[in-house]
Order: sequence, then structure tokens, then C-alpha cells
Amino acid sequence: MKRELTEIEIVAIGDELLSGATIDLNAAVIARTLEPLGLRVTRKTTVGDVPEAIAAAVETALQRAGAAITTGGLGPTQDDVTMEAVAGVFGRGVEFRKDLWQALEARWARRGRAIPESNRKQVEVPAGAEVFPNPRGTAPGLAVEDDRLGICVLLPGPPHEMENILRDSVAPYLGRRVGSGARRPFRRIVRTAGIAESAIAERVGDRLADLAVDVAFLPEVDCNDIRLTAWGENEDETSGALDEAVDRVRRILGSHIYAEEEIELAEAVGVLLRERGLTVAVAESCTAGLIAGRLTEPAGASDYLWGGMVVYDDKAKVELLGVSEDTLARHGAVSEETVREMAEGACRRSGADAVIAVTGIAGPTGGTDEKPVGTVWLAVRLGASTVTALRHYPGTRDMVRMRAAQGGLDLLRRTVLEELR
Ligand code: AMP
Ligand code: MG
Repeated sequence: MKRELTEIEIVAIGDELLSGATIDLNAAVIARTLEPLGLRVTRKTTVGDVPEAIAAAVETALQRAGAAITTGGLGPTQDDVTMEAVAGVFGRGVEFRKDLWQALEARWARRGRAIPESNRKQVEVPAGAEVFPNPRGTAPGLAVEDDRLGICVLLPGPPHEMENILRDSVAPYLGRRVGSGARRPFRRIVRTAGIAESAIAERVGDRLADLAVDVAFLPEVDCNDIRLTAWGENEDETSGALDEAVDRVRRILGSHIYAEEEIELAEAVGVLLRERGLTVAVAESCTAGLIAGRLTEPAGASDYLWGGMVVYDDKAKVELLGVSEDTLARHGAVSEETVREMAEGACRRSGADAVIAVTGIAGPTGGTDEKPVGTVWLAVRLGASTVTALRHYPGTRDMVRMRAAQGGLDLLRRTVLEELR
């Protein structure tokens, strides 16, 4: 009898994962691959290359979820002990699989090499295990199943090997055991710029509480996402609640939302400019090319990006953009007057429809009482008018620069939208 699964636990195996020498890259991939099948990862345990620890972790995982998936410990060396440990949990021994060994020998022979004897260990698999081919390595993927204990899938540790077997063999194998009534997650994403996570959470508050939708606030350095998840058997069952949730978020956050899909702000700005047939030039001091770099991430950016100037030193601001020496002397390089002249100068030089200009103090040095680290002046020129904005960005030098770049892009987005309203 095959059981119907809804949950699975991950057991990540390896001393190097415990010591921090290696970061676990496998668990996230496993969860993301299995979740759409209706199989939810409910716990992850990390253990060293110790048979008793592996056996105990697998055993309790099976007791809780009825299914476990291990990664690591399938190598040819003495410290790789996952097979014996898992075989023990199922009350079985390991058996040498001659067919697998011959296949490995043949594979090595094709490359003109003899396979080391030590690799024999990798085909001593738990008795009765189902074997999944590993086109990228010598350790096969395996599944051991028992009506009483459940299913344990064993995968090698190297992420590129693990991923292949997971996608091509394990996902279909486990997918067949997921019950027909399994609930899967259906998601929407709303991406915002220019509003803090706490402000979003405050405004949204409990206004989605009556919907069968999980709300996750996902703060990043330079944007905040809201991820809405509804669980159901199919899309139709969840789309009503999700549509309503997105609609409410849209009404609550309005122009703070720049996309309802997984795209970066620069890409959304690019789409906006292309739609309206506008070109943009940049004049960047503290971000020194970050904005131009972001705008050119999507292909075809020459449709809207004229180019720009990195004007780090005051001399560059004067010589390339015509910022007046008097303005710099009187107000300083980080000032509303300077950023305005930067935008106007870039507009004259480029003839572009729009300009983004940025000047600020990224730190960690260079701050003063009056203009502390994180002080950034932004300007956007569109048509014949210039808007400016003062920002105080928190964080390290990198974070201030990323936030300033995002802030400049967002100011352009908002200006274009307002202008055309
Ligand atoms: P193993 O299958 O235990 O022999 O692991 C072989 C290699 O895969 C080692 O270099 C490990 O550091 C790496 N590895 C094992 N588990 C993981 C994991 N969860 N994430 C990333 N790398 C891993
Ligand atoms: Mg290992």
C-alpha cells in the first residue's frame, strides 16, 4: 500500500554543515521543488556524519511526517555513513548492487579510466531500495519505503547532483504519493518601493484577516515585498481570495506598489519609459553608476537609457555638468542646489526627456552634524521641471548606495506617473 503524503522533513547530513564550513544550499531547493506538488517541508534537521545521529533524526522525522529526505553522506569515504544508518532505521542491511557497479565501471571506461575500488561503497545500498540515476556523479539517489515507517529519500550532498536527481526522479516519485486532495500553495507578490516595512504592516494591519490568505512581509535592503499565499487543491479554489487580497493591498498602498510580479524596480521603470517613449539620462555622484547599471540589467535598455555621467569629484560636476562653483562653495556637493544643477546640466548635455541625479554621503566617513552619513539628495528632471527629495538612508556604505539608487529610480517612476495623471 502506498501512503498518501502531505508533509516531509529534511535531514541535512554533514560535519561541514554543522561547523559552518559549508552553507546548506539544498534545503531551500528541496522545499521549493516539493511544495508545488502539495508536499510541505515541515521541519529541517542538521546532523553530523554520525550514524546514531542520522538514524535518530530520520526516525523521528518519519514518525512526525511519514516521509524524510536526506542529503549528504553518500560519498565513497569512510565518513560517509548515511546508507548504513538509514538501512538500520528500516531494519535492513545494505546490499551490493552489481548492476549499478557495472554501470559505473562502464561510465568510467568510456572516459578511459578505471573506477577506484573505494567507489564500491556507493553502490552498497539499503536492501530493496529504489535507485535514481545520478548523471553527474557516482552516488545514486535512493528511496527506501516501508508501509509502517514511511518513505526515506537519500540524495547526495553536492547541490548540482542533488538538484538533478530531485527534479528528474524524486519529484515525480514523491508526486505520485501525494494525495489527490492535497492542498498546494498559490501565491501572489506585490512589490513596493519607498515605504518602510513597518509602515506597510501598520497600514495593512488586520485588513486581510477575514480572507483565507497568509500574508508575509519580506523586507529587503531596497524594497519590501508582500507575499500572499492561499492554499487549495487548484488555482480556481484560491483565486477569489487572492484577487481580493491583492485588490485590498492595492487600495491600501497605492503608488508605493511598483509591480505585482517578480521584477526589479529598474525593470518596472524601463517598462514605464518604453511605454511612454521617454528617454532618461543619469548624473550620479554617490551611486557612481549603480543606477545606470540597474537600468541596463534588462536587455534592450538602449530603448530608453541615453547614458549618463559619474560625477564623483566636484570638478567633474563642474566640467561635465556645468554645476556652478559658487553653488558648490556655498551649499556643498550634497545639497538641493547642487543636485538640481546636476539634473539640469545632464538634461542640457543629453537632451534626454528625463534625468535622475544623486548626490549624498555613503559613509562610513564624511558625515557631519548637519549632514550625517546617509544624507542623500535626489533629483528628477522631467520635461521642464525638476523635483528634488532629501533622504536619510540607514545602513552601511553599500546599503546607503543601494537605497540611494533605488530611491532615484523610484522618484523617476513616481514623477512619470504623476506627470501623466
Ligand atoms: P557528501 O555527499 O556528504 O559526500 O557531500 C559532498 C559535498 O557536498 C561536500 O563538499 C559537501 O560540502 C557538499 N554538501 C553536502 N551537503 C550540502 C548542502 N546541504 N548544501 C551544500 N553543499 C553540501
Ligand atoms: Mg559528507
